[in-house]
Amino acid sequence: MQWLSGLANIVKDSLWQANCPLCKRPADRILCKDCDRQITAYQAPEFLQKDHPIAPDIPLYSWGIYDGALKRAIAACKYENHPEIMEAIAVKIGDTWKRSPHTQSLTKKYKKLTVVPIPLHDNKLKVRGFNQAEILARRFCDVTMLPCNPQLLQRVKDTKAQMQTKSKQERKQNLSRAFAVLSTRLSDQRDVILFDDIYTSGATIREAITTLKASSINVRSVVVLARPQFDR
Ligand SMILES: [Zn+2]
Repeated sequence: MQWLSGLANIVKDSLWQANCPLCKRPADRILCKDCDRQITAYQAPEFLQKDHPIAPDIPLYSWGIYDGALKRAIAACKYENHPEIMEAIAVKIGDTWKRSPHTQSLTKKYKKLTVVPIPLHDNKLKVRGFNQAEILARRFCDVTMLPCNPQLLQRVKDTKAQMQTKSKQERKQNLSRAFAVLSTRLSDQRDVILFDDIYTSGATIREAITTLKASSINVRSVVVLARPQFDR
């Protein structure tokens, strides 16, 4: 049975190794200091994207710029199966939220804000094993003490990546009726903060807002981990 306990040790070691998922060097936290610093270098100058609201009454908050080390970290999370990277970054977003004067006025204005992550379709969830937006949102809520409801919004259509669509018409069609609201989970959650990992054209977010609105749920702000460099 020697080989069996040897095997058990190998499994145990590989489960509990404290190596940074990005550079594989030993780390005392999820990310090593070096990778953490490189990611933080892509923090956006302002959390509130003042010139790029989703709608006049829906502000967009983005923690970072989708580029460099942050872009690589998001890819490693999604495609190399390292959801813990999102846990580490979510804490940064939560801390930034708590420090922002804009978010404080928002939480004062709407007393019952619920955080709702953009859901993945079951097919994608099965392939990836986790929804990175949900991991971000849950950890963000641990830090900010806001309630999280990952079940409120459902992805009912397995959409293509918007990049794979060829025309404007196809892009619109692709996202049309992509979401549904699970009414049994509604209760009194009428004011929500939508949460996603990457903001690109905003089309997915807008479709989710429309779906929620049809169930009398108002999106009061959108928080994302990263947005692309906006054209000036
Ligand atoms: Zn590292």
